[in-house]
Amino acid sequence: MQPRADQPAPRDPVSQDTLLLSGARLASGQVVDVRLRTARIEAVGAPGTLPPAAERLDLSGYLLLPAPAEPHAHYDTALLADRIPNPSGDLDGAIQGWLDYQGTVTRDDFVDRATQAALLGLANGTTAIRTHVGIYEPVGIKAVEALLEVRERLRGLVDLQLVALTVQLTGPECADLRAMLRAAMELGVDVVGGCPQLDPRPSAYQNLTLSLAAEFGRPIDLHTDETLDPTILNLPHFAALVITTGFPHGATASHCVSLGIQPSERAAEVAAQVAAAGMAVVCNPQTNLFLQARGQPTAPVRGLTALRPLLDAGVTVAGGGDNLRDPFNPVSRADPLETASLLVTAGHLTPEEAYTAVSTGARAAMGLPEVQVAPGFPAELLAIQASSLGEAIAGGTSRIVLHQGRMVSRTTVTHEFPDPQAATLVGHPSLP
Ligand SMILES: [Zn+2]
Repeated sequence: MQPRADQPAPRDPVSQDTLLLSGARLASGQVVDVRLRTARIEAVGAPGTLPPAAERLDLSGYLLLPAPAEPHAHYDTALLADRIPNPSGDLDGAIQGWLDYQGTVTRDDFVDRATQAALLGLANGTTAIRTHVGIYEPVGIKAVEALLEVRERLRGLVDLQLVALTVQLTGPECADLRAMLRAAMELGVDVVGGCPQLDPRPSAYQNLTLSLAAEFGRPIDLHTDETLDPTILNLPHFAALVITTGFPHGATASHCVSLGIQPSERAAEVAAQVAAAGMAVVCNPQTNLFLQARGQPTAPVRGLTALRPLLDAGVTVAGGGDNLRDPFNPVSRADPLETASLLVTAGHLTPEEAYTAVSTGARAAMGLPEVQVAPGFPAELLAIQASSLGEAIAGGTSRIVLHQGRMVSRTTVTHEFPDPQAATLVGHPSLP
């Protein structure tokens, strides 16, 4: 019998915008089902206890985690390592190589490499990315325009935040650069950035960029003290500025390398000031282990910030990947688990602290809402074939990435052993 046209259609008991993740292991070890509705986590319960959903994803053997976020990337320079040499291997060499080359890069090249870089990050589990975009002569705001296009093109797959990055900014000779920075903000760049340490007047640079961020109502994220020269320490002025102006839009200091070699009392004092300012600090282990301490052939100092004093002071600490196969680091791989692994081995954080830095800490530094695997939180999730957080950070296994409540990436890792003797071991439980 056909239903009459004026009768309401029978109501589907299963909402079409739901997804049930079944049999996932949480970091606590508990195995659960998780029901997602649209972009949020609706319910978490014992296996088999949640209502059915329109779709089901079997996560048996997977650890379900809040998705990582990337708080510090450079997608305008990404994937250029084979084109731009950096013979000295240090920061000056990388900057000079890039500045000499950037005028030749086409808009399409910026778009293609940034898209590829973002998708590499997404495949590794990153569903929100903050990338700096350089503004210099002669490239001007070409890279900014290209990255704005990429931000729109990838909407729905990964959330991109753009940071307008200038090198020198103060003085009459930089009037054009200040105009370009303002133009970039007017075009819709999300965050005011910069490198005060590379300008002859770092404090004036910090004042100028903070005023601009306040005027546009946007966050600020400055490359701060990316040097092992202990006499360069601009972070206290940055924190004092945030405190005295009551800057309300979110302030992040990236790198803070020289803080890591201050005497412990001084490091603790500055960390307390940064905590009082409510700022976040982003540690970028891959790049700063590569670039810094090049002149020290034995026992080189590690170019990391004062991680433990910052954590002890209650500062939001985030871990960033920074450069992706460019003259600043030829071997990184857009993987937040690589960042977390280095925070464990080189930064001496625990696996839990390290994963927090690349997920919760990163999202906080980016001004994004927290994610927990619990009802009501955003459905930004990484499922990784592992049984513990340490095994997950070790990486090398299959991953499923969920953004806004739907699967946006799946990477499947398989091992093949043509030798029959080895092949019999593939089913061994310790092998993925
Ligand atoms: Zn950077």
